[in-house]
Amino acid sequence: SMAAASHDEPASIAGSRATTLGSRIDLRGVSRRFGRVAAVDDVDLAIEPGEFVTLLGPSGSGKSTLLAAVAGFSPIDEGDILVDGRSVRDLPPHRRGFGMVFQHYALFPHMSVAQNVAFALRMEGLGRAQSARRVGETLELLHMGEHASRKPAQLSGGQQQRVAIARAIVRRPRVVLMDEPLSALDRRLREAIQIEIRALHRTLGTTIVFVTHDQGEALALSDRIAVLDHGRIVQLGTPATLYRAPASDFVARFVGESN
Ligand code: ADP
Ligand code: MG
Repeated sequence: SMAAASHDEPASIAGSRATTLGSRIDLRGVSRRFGRVAAVDDVDLAIEPGEFVTLLGPSGSGKSTLLAAVAGFSPIDEGDILVDGRSVRDLPPHRRGFGMVFQHYALFPHMSVAQNVAFALRMEGLGRAQSARRVGETLELLHMGEHASRKPAQLSGGQQQRVAIARAIVRRPRVVLMDEPLSALDRRLREAIQIEIRALHRTLGTTIVFVTHDQGEALALSDRIAVLDHGRIVQLGTPATLYRAPASDFVARFVGESN
């Protein structure tokens, strides 16, 4: 509510809230092995439409592999992934229609900010004017409107990551997947963009699956947190529940550490 109150939402975005509700995601018995390592080990997880769920765990706990499985970049050995009740197991990433943000944003250096974001719309069949309007609205949501004609090299790291987020949401996907998107940024920037991500989530109604090893970030952003250890979900709950009633010493140590 703090974030939503501090930024004006463009009317056209706020007005489209009801039509951009996120998808439901069901992971059922998902496993992925690399040789002898069970990177993801029999994971069940039901994510509600529009929910913000964070996969939290130490390095090597399987967060990226699980997110890549949802995205379609990493095949799974067992189990199924359902989006709004339909299996996407055999769909390639571009047919799943998700928005994606990674730690190392790869913007096209020769394109302006607006062109980078518009690139993600090229297959949408929007007219030039409609496309430009959508790009403009999306950059405004991330407070990047005034930088639309700059090249990535003229931007700070935080501004570049805002552009990467704009590119991920410009198609108004029902699901956005984010793997440590803020981990390369300094603390002050991280907190500023956290507030923007929360406001975006509230405005667009998108389902977000967010990956981080940063407990504070998970507690600040999430509706629910799934704590991973050796490829398994060892606890799933709201930030308050995890903080007050950790299910194991591992969760207590991990969630309590930075606080
Ligand atoms: P996290 O994102 O939580 O740091 P990862 O999903 O990257 O964890 O890794 C989970 C486990 O799977 C680790 O033991 C890692 O070494 C292993 N792993 C991940 N990707 C590969 C790969 N391409 N080949 C072999 N092992 C991998
Ligand atoms: Mg990772």
